[in-house]
Amino acid sequence: MSNTFLMALVELEEPAIFSCRHEAGNLSRTHNYIPGSIILGALANYFIYEKNGSADEDDFKGFFLSEDVKFGNLYPAFKEEKAFYHTIPIPLSTFTCKHYPGINKKNFRGEQHSFADFLISEMANECQTCHAPLKNREGYYFYKKPFLYYVETRKIIKMHNVIDDKTQKPEENAVFSFEAIAEEEYFTGIIIFSNEDIKSNFVNKIFGGEKEIELSIGKGKSRGYGKCKLKIIAERQGEYISSFLIKRDFDTRWEDWQKKGQNTFSLTLYSDAIITDKYLRHLTVISEEWFKEELGIDVNLIKYFSKPIFIDGFSGVYGLPLEQEIGISKGSTFLYRFNSNKSEEIKDKLENLEKEGIGFRKNEGFGWLIVCDDYHVNWGDKWEK
Ligand SMILES: [Zn+2]
Repeated sequence: MSNTFLMALVELEEPAIFSCRHEAGNLSRTHNYIPGSIILGALANYFIYEKNGSADEDDFKGFFLSEDVKFGNLYPAFKEEKAFYHTIPIPLSTFTCKHYPGINKKNFRGEQHSFADFLISEMANECQTCHAPLKNREGYYFYKKPFLYYVETRKIIKMHNVIDDKTQKPEENAVFSFEAIAEEEYFTGIIIFSNEDIKSNFVNKIFGGEKEIELSIGKGKSRGYGKCKLKIIAERQGEYISSFLIKRDFDTRWEDWQKKGQNTFSLTLYSDAIITDKYLRHLTVISEEWFKEELGIDVNLIKYFSKPIFIDGFSGVYGLPLEQEIGISKGSTFLYRFNSNKSEEIKDKLENLEKEGIGFRKNEGFGWLIVCDDYHVNWGDKWEK
């Protein structure tokens, strides 16, 4: 049975804070996207308090506590008149000039030097124009023929006085500041349903005929943060998130890739992933051992660009903090080689991997990935100039 994908659009009516736990000094930071767990928690709350859904335990479990509904991260969307372009995290294999970052912002014209994706081609040491070092560029992209466009989240910094516990007055010289995502930013993300029935039931019970619903998300809800509108803007049937995100089916991507990088494949993380080895130790790389243990296949990891990341163990449904975990950052990319006589078996298993995702907490948006992403072979040098 094929999945049903809904694309959700969130418009922030107030600034919003999705805090990262590891904070330095007195600046608290926010994620620059809306984690799937936040949307899961907000909709679970909405279902209980606005729709009186607690009466229906089966629906609640099916929607929010099963793998039948998976809530993806929402990334900043680019709005052009009435259209919204869904964005994807820029792979960590993409580098640009440190001084004149060459990835253009939409409608921005300025000096910019080289950039490139280095998953397949050999890593360069420096900018080809000014010989400055290269660096990653954090952010998101979308593809609109024939170019890629760069999108970043608009943030604001707020300053607050620290209030003395005893006097309830501001302490002198004690100010803390925190980041928030600016209001009127748009985000889009995907909700995956394992079948059509659960999707229809979900839409009926949550939206009940309304076009959009009002939610409060993130921190500081009672202090003017996190009010937003959520609505569904697109629907699609299919097997893989990538057919929705990059609009090319698995087979043609696989064939294209094999023409250029014979007997190799790539994995590119669309969201943070939490994976462990068989002793339940957290991994920071999707390793050869992991492939052997999880999929029973032999591959050689030949190159990768990855970043470990702390992941808050927060249960959106129960509102309880859980233990913090180490995961692998979205945008991490891995290149593997395999034995040519295993080609069909590998392809089958990878198709399934892309369909299912990897690791833990997939219903909160973790572990979604793209196999043999066109980005690395066809798109990585097509940023708008
Ligand atoms: Zn340069």
